[in-house]
Amino acid sequence: MNSTPRSNRLHIGIFGKRNTGKSSLINALTSQEIALVSNIKGTTTDPVYKSMELLPIGPVVFIDTAGIDDEGKLGELRIKKTLKVLEKTDIAIILLSFESEDLEYEKSLIENIKKKNIPIIGVLNKVDKYNGSIKYLEQELNIKIYKTSIKTKDGIEKLKDEICKLKPYINDENPFIIRDKIKKNDVIVQVTPIDDSAPKGRLILPQVQTIREVLDGNGINIVVQDSELQKTIELFGDKIKMVITDSQVFGKIKDIVPNHIFLTSYSILFGRYKGDLLEFTKGIKEIKRLKKGDKILISEACSHHRQKGDIGRDKIPKFLQEISGVDLNFDWSSGNSIPEDISKYSLIVHCGGCMINRKEMVSRIKNASQKNIPIINYGIFLAYKHDILERALEIFPELN
Ligand code: SF4
Repeated sequence: MNSTPRSNRLHIGIFGKRNTGKSSLINALTSQEIALVSNIKGTTTDPVYKSMELLPIGPVVFIDTAGIDDEGKLGELRIKKTLKVLEKTDIAIILLSFESEDLEYEKSLIENIKKKNIPIIGVLNKVDKYNGSIKYLEQELNIKIYKTSIKTKDGIEKLKDEICKLKPYINDENPFIIRDKIKKNDVIVQVTPIDDSAPKGRLILPQVQTIREVLDGNGINIVVQDSELQKTIELFGDKIKMVITDSQVFGKIKDIVPNHIFLTSYSILFGRYKGDLLEFTKGIKEIKRLKKGDKILISEACSHHRQKGDIGRDKIPKFLQEISGVDLNFDWSSGNSIPEDISKYSLIVHCGGCMINRKEMVSRIKNASQKNIPIINYGIFLAYKHDILERALEIFPELN
């Protein structure tokens, strides 16, 4: 159950003032003691994640956040982290307490959540102590509110049902990596080089997930290293529908794969699955307009161990300077640490984002596009660099 990666789970953020029972609510929803529960205000500092299976939705992750009314310098930092969670939140639960004197914090949070089009559920906790009307609260906050008592467990099952009902309203525009392009018995060749940067004894997440989607579509997977691709094409020839490769060997294999066979990369597939291929293809046109000294942000959504010749640290900067023909300045970010102020950048180059959820990747793209900063991803860039971008996108005629 817990093997579904966090990035593939529906993210449910729990927000509210300190001491409203956020941690206890997660414990009640998951029937586990995961979040630290205490009566002392402000016990939760960094967001805490808890994965569970919520039927009929499937795998979800609850995010316990620090109170939105936290105080002091450290409190301010904690509130910032709480608000950052909104970038990955698919459903927001606002926990309210009848003991609250004013609703200003909640109003401002709800306004923020609505701007981001995140569905909201209001929950009034501790109704074992108070069971009056919630009409006033609903009118003030303009959201639907459900009553629960974590102590008596009243309303917890109803709350789970309400979360499940919201699933169809969540923007899941591209729920597939490749499943929608696969028909029964389609032969799909996947090229996964086993070089120094490949993890020992296993495949990486995008490869595993893509293999799984081909199986879901009753297609036929053939997984080879780039050194065996020529032989594979000789053996299976016209029976092959598509070759999916690690973008780093595009240059090496583009002439091996005949033109009538679709050729694309994991990174391009993830550009659609997690992000927005249209936005990335728009961004690529800006490379030729880069000027001497322009700042470029190279952003990776995880902090993996980097080898010599690393794609993000070495290859992409080198290729970008070659193509633009000017000296550029590079900054790097990894994991959750994308700079708050991105306005100084002339281009953002992002990895496939397999370790973050779609919501977070889309937030990053929207943030860049609202500031008129072009954004591209590794796969799109490497296809462009090897002069096969059009070909690598042929599998998505809907983009034209
Ligand atoms: S760098 Fe990006 S694409 Fe590569 S493994 Fe990390 S999150 Fe996934």
